[in-house]
Amino acid sequence: MSKKTHVLGVPFDAVTMEQAVAKAKKMLTEEGQHFICTPNPEIVMEAQKDRELMNILKEADMVVPDGIGVVWASKYSETRLTERVAGYDLTQNLMAELAATGETFYFFGGAPGVASTAARKMMKKYPGLKIVGVHNGYFDEKEEKKIIQDIKTKSPSILLVGLGAPKQEKWIYDNIRLVGAKVAIGVGGSFDVMAGNVKRAPKIFQKLGLEWFHRLITQPTRWRRMMRLPKFALTVLKTKGRKA
Ligand code: UDP
Repeated sequence: MSKKTHVLGVPFDAVTMEQAVAKAKKMLTEEGQHFICTPNPEIVMEAQKDRELMNILKEADMVVPDGIGVVWASKYSETRLTERVAGYDLTQNLMAELAATGETFYFFGGAPGVASTAARKMMKKYPGLKIVGVHNGYFDEKEEKKIIQDIKTKSPSILLVGLGAPKQEKWIYDNIRLVGAKVAIGVGGSFDVMAGNVKRAPKIFQKLGLEWFHRLITQPTRWRRMMRLPKFALTVLKTKGRKA
């Protein structure tokens, strides 16, 4: 088991990307079902006022930092996180490593057509990759029952859920037992990136820990959400080392 380190009460696994990939692959060999969360500072802030979300993050089987802000904040926690483990990169690595195996994926989320384009592109990028099903992320109650049935029938090893946070975390928590996937991961807007509709920041921004800044200038409608970043930093500084 990996060490946990708490950032504003959220228990992160102190793992590198390589260890996170290994841990996720190990889950595929274990009994039962597992879910992985990849919170960024916005979600850590959201969990301060959303108890349900905080409890889900506490119960998740692996929680990795999708945001350089969380890595920075961990210097005030029990164990320092060494690197950002972005949900997008984690799923890319898992697809690369599992393409040649019998493990299967299901893409659930995004606007109509996005998950299927993403699936097509990923199967081309990783020859041998098995994506057994896709569904968009806009549904009513009736449609939801059908989606659950479809995932259950196709029985993927890994279910990627891209409904945006915290909707996807709550959906996974409520439904993982019904859909039967071995591992479920909340992936936010990853299908938009895989489909080529949204570009990630250039590598240099990622290396310098400035992907958030790139997002702000390329998707200015996110500014309101991103106002949580300075609030996150201030809260961390005020509550240094708080665990619960
Ligand atoms: N989305 C969805 N169903 C919804 C709301 C959102 O499938 O009811 C998708 C949306 O199309 C987008 C993703 O969820 O692909 C959210 O992307 P974002 O980058 O905002 O993710 P976050 O930063 O919230 O994790």
